[in-house]
Amino acid sequence: MSVYDWIEQYIDGGYGTPLGRMLDGACRGYFGLDTRMQSSLNLVYMFGSWFSEDEQDAEDDDRPTSSGPLQGSLRIAGGNQQLPLAIASSLPQGCMQLNHQLVAIKRNSDDAMILSFTTPTGLLEVICDHAILTLPFSTLRHVDYQQAGFDSLKQTAITELGYGTISKLFLQFDTPYWYQDGPWPRVNDGFFITDMDIQALWDGSLGQTGSHGMLVNYTSGQRGAAYSPPSAYSTMTESEEIQQYAQDCLQQLERIFPGISAHYTGKAALSYPTGDPYLLGSYACWRVGQYTLFGGYEGVRQGPIHFAGEHCSTWRAAQAKVHVQHEKFCRTTASDEGPINSVRSRPSRSYSISFARRAMITVTCWANDDSKKLLSSGQ
Ligand SMILES: Cc1cc2nc3c(=O)[nH]c(=O)nc-3n(C[C@H](O)[C@H](O)[C@H](O)COP(=O)(O)OP(=O)(O)OC[C@H]3O[C@@H](n4cnc5c(N)ncnc54)[C@H](O)[C@@H]3O)c2cc1C
Repeated sequence: MSVYDWIEQYIDGGYGTPLGRMLDGACRGYFGLDTRMQSSLNLVYMFGSWFSEDEQDAEDDDRPTSSGPLQGSLRIAGGNQQLPLAIASSLPQGCMQLNHQLVAIKRNSDDAMILSFTTPTGLLEVICDHAILTLPFSTLRHVDYQQAGFDSLKQTAITELGYGTISKLFLQFDTPYWYQDGPWPRVNDGFFITDMDIQALWDGSLGQTGSHGMLVNYTSGQRGAAYSPPSAYSTMTESEEIQQYAQDCLQQLERIFPGISAHYTGKAALSYPTGDPYLLGSYACWRVGQYTLFGGYEGVRQGPIHFAGEHCSTWRAAQAKVHVQHEKFCRTTASDEGPINSVRSRPSRSYSISFARRAMITVTCWANDDSKKLLSSGQ
């Protein structure tokens, strides 16, 4: 059942009521796909309180429950980007290779594998014992993995897993106008959900020094996918379209904050991951039927090939575990192969394919220009 159908069936008055539209907008906004495509379990898990396994086992029933994935938000002072950069700089020099695109995975009979990359200097083949694939399934499905030995359920997950189409349009203002007096709620936390095309916005400058303000316009579903910028990450100086998108947004914002346009500084930027050939979407979103078809299977290893990334995340798997057929898990996790930390690997200080038969990790990191660049790390 889809989120939309769930709202129609269980909310008195259905989608046409303010509550119905609020639930619809929240679920579309959080998971990124239109609600007719999403599994209704996304909605149930988002708003329903749930216990972790520890909490379930605890005898003290008075302890508060977690509320789905909505756990609040944290930011690193100075920018979250510092974290991947710090991780990158802590790795042995030379073990990361930028601009290497994985194009094929082939397993040999002795279980070694060949990973093929296109690189600025041509095709590179790397032989290794183990690989950890952290690229999203939205792009893995375009890699040639026919000779990787993936079972059919894994192939189904790779091919069919839903991906949201969330975009972020950033608008700068000379002041955080939304906190001033006006015909809008005086006390607000800078987070706004609307039933207009602009969908949701928040104050991206909260906690920053300076007198300016920034709103992030967060759109999802068809609306988030509808942009057509010249590149996935662009500013108004690079593209006239961005200024037009900002003006369209301001026009609607005027209905909430009359007079706000006068405070727009003319600076805007758009992040459109759906148009990024290395993402092809925002993040994973289970479609109707996918919890029971393969939910939780995304992270299950296939011989020497391991999977990681948000599409394999534990809270997603925890939700799915309840629903996915038990035997599916028994079949795949009760393997006699060791856990990931027992992977035999050969740390290498300098990248060279003569260090064959090691573990190859494809990992990634936000680059300074906010576009994503590939880092490949062999350890
Ligand atoms: C618009 C938007 C808003 C978000 N907001 C939040 C938020 O507020 N809070 C939060 O916690 N999370 C948020 N997220 C989610 C967060 O960004 C992701 O969950 C996180 O980045 C996932 O990390 P990852 O390493 O699994 O994948 P990604 O960060 O998506 O990295 C995947 C990498 O794989 C690389 N890649 C793809 N194909 C290939 C290939 N063939 N060969 C080699 N490399 C390849 C890509 O270049 C990319 O760098 C948001 C995401 C989006 C898109």
